[in-house]
Amino acid sequence: MTSRRVLDVAIVGAGMVGAALALDLARRGFDVALIESRAPASWRAEDEVDLRVVALAASSIALLRHLDVWTAIASARASAYRRMRVWDALAPGSLGFDAADEGASALGYIVENKLIQSVLWQAVERHGDIALHCPARVVASELDAGSAARTLAFEDGSQLRARLVVAADGADSALRGLLGIETHDRDYAQRGIVAHIAHARAHEATAWQRFLPGATLAFLPLADGRSSIVWSVENDEAERLLALDDEAFRAELGAAFDFRLGAVTATTKRAAFPLRLRLAERYIGPRFALVGDAAHVVHPLAGQGVNLGFRDAVELANTLVDARERKADFATEHVLRRYERRRRSDNAVSARAFDAIQRGFGSDNPALAALRGAGLALIDRVVPLKRFFARRAAG
Ligand SMILES: Cc1cc2nc3c(=O)[nH]c(=O)nc-3n(C[C@H](O)[C@H](O)[C@H](O)COP(=O)(O)OP(=O)(O)OC[C@H]3O[C@@H](n4cnc5c(N)ncnc54)[C@H](O)[C@@H]3O)c2cc1C
Repeated sequence: MTSRRVLDVAIVGAGMVGAALALDLARRGFDVALIESRAPASWRAEDEVDLRVVALAASSIALLRHLDVWTAIASARASAYRRMRVWDALAPGSLGFDAADEGASALGYIVENKLIQSVLWQAVERHGDIALHCPARVVASELDAGSAARTLAFEDGSQLRARLVVAADGADSALRGLLGIETHDRDYAQRGIVAHIAHARAHEATAWQRFLPGATLAFLPLADGRSSIVWSVENDEAERLLALDDEAFRAELGAAFDFRLGAVTATTKRAAFPLRLRLAERYIGPRFALVGDAAHVVHPLAGQGVNLGFRDAVELANTLVDARERKADFATEHVLRRYERRRRSDNAVSARAFDAIQRGFGSDNPALAALRGAGLALIDRVVPLKRFFARRAAG
């Protein structure tokens, strides 16, 4: 792939965020390369629903619509959730959101990561003008003499030059390390157990979340009537739950959920993901920017990780387009600072809020539990406060 041509933007990582950004920029006339270490697994309707799903907020769906990929995703397999219910195991009081209160038909959609990634990948391939490099792995990144471009060097010895390099290579971003960006990390010492389950009662197109001492449990509605669970528990407890046979797991899961949807009648295999907070100390530098999980990894309790990442992609693309319209060099640190200022503060506020919720709701202190219950009930009753939270969750 070595060429003397200088591209506008080289994006490393074709996950959901990197692929969406590549497509958006290419459709807006930028000369783009997308570099991915392994081709995404193809999604097939006849396959079992993949265990990795995300709850997409309204802002993410707006981006996918703008990229003309939402119809393909929604018609393949997406499940609308129209309500959210949040409650605490140790205190009375609950919080509920209804799409109808916002004049919307859905609060969001539950979709398989693999489906989003594969539809975006196909759209990138169809576009024709995006230079796709896969499999390829970056081993070095150097600013050119004169600082007008950055050179990426690959494992196979080839090179590529671009005015702007974007790290979209996920939580363990190798490019972030090559660019010398430190992260602030907190290990939650928890794992998120995921599985798809069947239950005795209908899920009512509702995303349910229960806070328990040291744990959170979400049931996300799937289109086939089952629910996808994310059960965040301490590492030892995760080991124990993963080792249970299906019958014992179903019984414990039903009890942890207070049998809100009746007994858990079936489960798929389970998988577990380590949970941590990871925030990059900077999002930009000389001819580079970070987006998505490469910039921020948050606790999944609010289901916001990729929603924040898509908002990064939108803000970065708008920043570059605005600069180009002003005939300015779109990849100077001066220009990129607008992107960093807007996204870093929003992501940090969200990450710290999820962190505080994780700590506050994880405690079994009775005084804290009473405060939590009262807080949920208060937000539920005070309409402007509730709308604030609903709007923030929608992006
Ligand atoms: C249990 C759990 C539940 C979650 N639920 C939700 C939810 O409901 N809603 C939500 O919004 N978020 C949720 N998230 C978070 C969400 O999954 C992530 O935020 C999202 O996947 C990040 O997308 P990304 O494109 O930034 O990174 P990734 O998905 O990690 O993509 C990175 C890409 O870069 C590639 N790559 C890696 N290294 C290199 C390299 N050196 N060179 C080239 N390519 C490379 C990878 O192959 C991959 O394709 C959840 C997370 C967990 C763990």
